[in-house]
Amino acid sequence: MTEKKLLRKPIKAAKQLGEVMRDYSYRMDRISKGEEEGKIAWCTSVGPAELLCALDFEVHYPENHGAMLGSTRLAMDYIPLANAIGYSPDICSYLTSDVGCYLKGETPLSRAYPGIDSVPRPDILAYNTNQCRDVREWFEYYGREFNVPVVGINPPHGLREIVPAEIADVVQQMKDLIPTLEEVSGQKFDIDKFRESMRLSRECSELWGHVLGLARNVPSPWTFFDGTIHMGPAVCLRGSQRANDYYQILKAELEERVAEGVGAVEDERFRIYWEGMPIWGRLRALSEQFYELKSCVLVSTYCNSWIFSAFDENRPFESMAQAYTEIFINRSEPVKERYMEKLVEEFKVDGIIFHDSKTCPNNSNSRYGMPQRLEKKLGIPTLTIDADLNDLRMYSEETTRTNIEAFIEQLEERE
Ligand code: SF4
Repeated sequence: MTEKKLLRKPIKAAKQLGEVMRDYSYRMDRISKGEEEGKIAWCTSVGPAELLCALDFEVHYPENHGAMLGSTRLAMDYIPLANAIGYSPDICSYLTSDVGCYLKGETPLSRAYPGIDSVPRPDILAYNTNQCRDVREWFEYYGREFNVPVVGINPPHGLREIVPAEIADVVQQMKDLIPTLEEVSGQKFDIDKFRESMRLSRECSELWGHVLGLARNVPSPWTFFDGTIHMGPAVCLRGSQRANDYYQILKAELEERVAEGVGAVEDERFRIYWEGMPIWGRLRALSEQFYELKSCVLVSTYCNSWIFSAFDENRPFESMAQAYTEIFINRSEPVKERYMEKLVEEFKVDGIIFHDSKTCPNNSNSRYGMPQRLEKKLGIPTLTIDADLNDLRMYSEETTRTNIEAFIEQLEERE
């Protein structure tokens, strides 16, 4: 029997990535078990991480845990448990799978890292509703469960232009977090430490933006599917040197691919934009289908969400407020469209795939006519895939495969 060939070009830096994420997980586990000094904060993926790092919290991101539940396809075992205590099947499936997993007393971390039997226990939870309301409900649930403080930032939503008064409001909300963070951490807030964590985060964001930008090359040295794996440090370890060291390694490898003209997809024919959440439990299958179709999904709003161009350690509060308020998900349709138009041009995109993620209307952009407007304006086809980030009961393998094939045929006809 012949072994099925792996349909992707492996990235060598994945080994170091594994080590970085392993060390990060074990350190939190030791703190959580009282084997090492420290405090744990839980933070939303685009929450005030730099403030937490400045007060020496080790930071756990429940959305990252949610993505693990999606990619291991365990989510469907846990979602019903959260539904049973009143969390609707229609709300964020990161939330429902994560809460269900907690109720069952399990974690996929145990499989990846022997000896870890639960997520780290929080000393405090810090959210930012810049992305959605669900994160606040999610964190407040755990605040009640663990009986620890929940603090948060609630910025204005759906912004066109961002005015100074809005930034001033977010700055004040960030400053208001400090007394509680000081009390829980047992440390005094130090503006220089905050500047330093902002500097490290800015560097991380620049490195992450740089490696994502290498996909502008033809052929592209890596894919969106690779990016969803290698974004781990940008999400979980921004504000620390560990993330930046890792991205230097990845950068060198991808630059070498570019210099040698090595593409992630052999004989790349079509270049595709992925808009919306990943379908975590089907990343491999999708990546292989696109590989077979000689099509490279190479740019996404999702991976770009951890590029924070505004970060500036000389204006730490203002620039952090700006960076976390101006994120794509928090903008009006015209701003989002302009952003995508620019990327379509820069990355020489032939077509756009929209993922209508059923439990995440917040990060699904196909519902108010955007695909049709962009098709008209840019003259390129779009495809909308109906699915979900974690709940694969909302995903049809066969329909999606057929629709992707038809989409690529459409691109071929235009050649
Ligand atoms: S943005 Fe979507 S996926 Fe992320 S936490 Fe909110 S509802 Fe869930």
